[in-house]
Amino acid sequence: MTASAATPSSAPDSAVDVVIVGAGFAGLYMLHKTRRLGLSAVVFEAGDGVGGTWYWNRYPGARCDVESMEYSYQFDDDLQQEWHWSERFAPQPEILKYANHVADRFDLRRDIRFSTRVMAAHFDESALRWTVRTDRGDAVTGRFVVMATGCLSSTNKPAFKGLDSFKGPTYHTGEWPHEPVDFTGQRVAVIGTGSSAVQSIPIIAQQASALTVFQRTANFSIPARNAPLDPAYESRIKADYRGFRARNSQMLSGFGSNHPRSEISIFSVDEATRHRAFQERWDRGGLGFQGSFADLMIDMKANQIAADWVRARIREVVKDPATAELLSPRQVLGCKRMCVDTGYYATFNLPHVKLVDISQGGIEAITPRGVMAGGQEYEVDRIVFATGFDAMTGTLMKIDIRGRGGLSLREAWSAGPRTYLGLNVAGFPNLFTISGPGSPSVLTNMIVSIEQHVNWIAECMDWMRREGRRSIEALPQAQDAWVGHVNAVADATLYPQCNSWYLGANVPGKTRVFMPLLGFPDYARRCSEVAAAGYEGFALSA
Ligand code: FAD
Ligand code: NAP
Repeated sequence: MTASAATPSSAPDSAVDVVIVGAGFAGLYMLHKTRRLGLSAVVFEAGDGVGGTWYWNRYPGARCDVESMEYSYQFDDDLQQEWHWSERFAPQPEILKYANHVADRFDLRRDIRFSTRVMAAHFDESALRWTVRTDRGDAVTGRFVVMATGCLSSTNKPAFKGLDSFKGPTYHTGEWPHEPVDFTGQRVAVIGTGSSAVQSIPIIAQQASALTVFQRTANFSIPARNAPLDPAYESRIKADYRGFRARNSQMLSGFGSNHPRSEISIFSVDEATRHRAFQERWDRGGLGFQGSFADLMIDMKANQIAADWVRARIREVVKDPATAELLSPRQVLGCKRMCVDTGYYATFNLPHVKLVDISQGGIEAITPRGVMAGGQEYEVDRIVFATGFDAMTGTLMKIDIRGRGGLSLREAWSAGPRTYLGLNVAGFPNLFTISGPGSPSVLTNMIVSIEQHVNWIAECMDWMRREGRRSIEALPQAQDAWVGHVNAVADATLYPQCNSWYLGANVPGKTRVFMPLLGFPDYARRCSEVAAAGYEGFALSA
């Protein structure tokens, strides 16, 4: 086993119980829980502040699409009672303020080393400890390592030909500058039409003198119907916040109990009733549209009825029939993550906004003056890459993680990620992943999934201490069975039907495997059963 040049093999400079990587919502809560157990911890964070996603994604229009009253921590009742969200879907600056508030409220910063990127984590089998090394030369040993590194934290920057030749500024939505970017009077190109693009395009269009959007695949987007948070609604939720959280935890995606997924089949009602159900959810706004009927994500015909209905709404909004046609998605509704927007489709009615279809030839090149596609050069002053992320595995693969016998995670996952419960990998004792592949993670309200994982990991550490166990590690057969289960659940749905980032299909060369597990309540129950059975499926050393 050789250490890479970036990870000098100097002697460790300190030892803690738990090394946590990342200071987003997962890392912050993990640190808080670790301290509550009386364990020592250090957090390494590549950014110079807390908040993770909300620290990095500062593009115009960035906001959550799970409602703010749900997209927040529930572990501390005073926190959830005292915090006030200003809008139904909070904007990025407010979510970042919330993350900073949590860091201060629980005095978390003193154990976080900012602007420090973890480069390697190697397991020492004789000591049963991990050595974690950073790009600033830190070398810290920990009994446990918790990867709170995020599912959407490694930007996908396609290697477009001529990329560096462009004369003007370029931006990636996931690494947006900290100072405001003013597009007033600029000719702007946006490449990509996923959630980040759908949120930013209407705002960029308000400033730019000309906006050209390059679309490879049209996406389904549902109006957000965002608004100031209704004080009466806030009071009602806060009067029984715990009950509300408990009801949400029984939802397939861990949110939306106010307006749950329908339990009836689309085929059990007539056309007028179907349309009323779609309209009602469309008018309400947000991701709940996908729950209009019980069978939308399992029956292709049911899905197509819903997709046709949305396409008809797009045609109503977009005046130019050719543009409306291009904006109408052709894939299964929901198999790429649905977008939630404010004025996205209407933006294409503006005379200075142009949609360019690159579904056939892609982006041919970036030139000094703009973007080349379909044999035509589009001259622009600035380019926004809204090209997404190397999701779920990208960030972990950048770290040189080595478990038993020097086995690298990159090798172990060369044919796609394999985990037990999305929490641990066979061969990597005492290393936990928060919202890892094989757990519901990105198919849920992620703060719900994060808290469930952190609680489970903290209970496990506490149990090990009480029981005198020194290491925990997934058994290969339990892991194999779990991977089989995750695939079987996905295969019973329409989710694997299109080229989504859930499958890794957006990154050239990435192994195509459906990574998240559908169904939060069953999953959480299974995790609790495993723990109650003395960590069934794990090998535990005394
Ligand atoms: P992150 O917030 O990604 O934090 C991980 C941290 O780890 C980052 O700060 C990163 O710098 C750090 N890190 C990574 N690697 C290293 C390393 N090697 N060394 C040191 N530090 C490292 N989810 C929802 O449920 N609802 C939403 O509405 C929603 N909206 C979203 C909007 C956007 C624009 C994006 C990109 C994602 C959204 N998500 C949403 C998903 C979001 O990522 C999660 O909700 C949540 O914020 C993830 O928190 P986390 O702590 O797990 O990861
Ligand atoms: P994304 O959904 O992966 O979208 C990336 C876009 O870039 C897609 O349109 C993709 O086209 C395009 N693209 C990628 N590579 C390309 C290439 N080589 N050439 C041309 N086009 C290319 O990424 P995202 O919009 O950043 O969103 C990622 C996830 O983050 C979301 O799904 C969601 O989970 C979360 N998010 C949530 C919100 C929110 O509303 N709260 C906002 C932003 C992000 P193809 O579809 O053809 O691959």
